Amino acid sequence: MESLKEKILIDGIALSEDVLKVDSFLNHQLDPELMVDIGKEFAKRVEGGKKVTKILTIEASGIAAALTTGLELGVPVLFARKKKSITMTDDNYVSQVYSFTKKEESDITVAKRFLNEDDHVLIVDDFLARGAAAFGLISIVEQAGASLAGVGIIIEKAFQDGGTKLREAGHPVYSLVRIQSLEKGKVYFVEEE
Ligand code: 5GP
Repeated sequence: MESLKEKILIDGIALSEDVLKVDSFLNHQLDPELMVDIGKEFAKRVEGGKKVTKILTIEASGIAAALTTGLELGVPVLFARKKKSITMTDDNYVSQVYSFTKKEESDITVAKRFLNEDDHVLIVDDFLARGAAAFGLISIVEQAGASLAGVGIIIEKAFQDGGTKLREAGHPVYSLVRIQSLEKGKVYFVEEE
């Protein structure tokens, strides 16, 4: 997705050789037009086959793109909670996720009444690094007995192993951009064939 690549080149900051900061349009401040385009792009990539019934993401940074994707596909958007709220009185699906950026393990929770075996789920998240967040969300889809349409990722860091692990496990991965490296403070994209 060329407009996203341009945005990353202009506004992205390589904090180290493995962390990219994009808080001016994705992780803190949001670019609404870009989010709408991202939703359209995910919807286009999953078109065909079985109809998606629900978008699943994880709070907080996945929500904006999940929302625009849900709007485009005309389906509800569900986000896994990182901290269990006192209002979550229902039965829940729970999965453990190790956070790449926060370096801590946490439970993610989804109320059982929002996901069941009739659902065909598209997972959406902002980044793919080691795959922990994506596999945690896939576990929730599996616990619900639902099927997986695929994993939509805004920025895949292809030099980390999450993408390989997901593809090897047979899950379709729709990455809008793939980063080859963040060496010496510069962003290099994977040359797509
Ligand atoms: P994973 O679970 O695949 O190891 O990491 C993905 C999660 O960690 C994403 O949900 C994202 O919030 C965060 N993350 C991983 N790498 C980066 C990065 O380079 N920059 C930012 N801003 N977040 C990242």
